[in-house]
Amino acid sequence: MMFSVVPMMWRAVRPSKVVDMPAVVNSFWMRKGYEGLTFFGQILTPSEETANLFKVSPAMKNHEMIHLRQAQSCGDSWLRFYILYIWYWLRALPANRQMKHGAYLLNPFEMEAYRHMNNLNYLTNNEANEWRKFAKMKLRDRLAIYRGNVPITSL
Ligand SMILES: [Zn+2]
Repeated sequence: MMFSVVPMMWRAVRPSKVVDMPAVVNSFWMRKGYEGLTFFGQILTPSEETANLFKVSPAMKNHEMIHLRQAQSCGDSWLRFYILYIWYWLRALPANRQMKHGAYLLNPFEMEAYRHMNNLNYLTNNEANEWRKFAKMKLRDRLAIYRGNVPITSL
């Protein structure tokens, strides 16, 4: 389990070459309570039950597919996507003092994915570039949007 992610990285193809992302169980890297993590073109999940959720919940699958499209928008590079993801997460760490999982939920990539995962047509005509707008915003402005205090039209 620990090392099974290595061939996943090794054999990874560019984000634009990924057509569908299968859910793969990995209880070493994915703790219970977490649902899924887009990992170089596959979705890591902690258990079979959670893996099945991605088959029955189109919104959950859509969330991960939005991350795939975001990786395509990062110069079609997984590495660039993950470096940026970690960078934004680090910069949002102060938000953990204001809300639970703040650094995660105010990550620009997650904000876009959570806001649009229920819209199953989101990726049909969309480049998944909204994260760029969030990335330029101050943390407190992102928090206001997350809390619904700012209308979507003002973005
Ligand atoms: Zn996500």
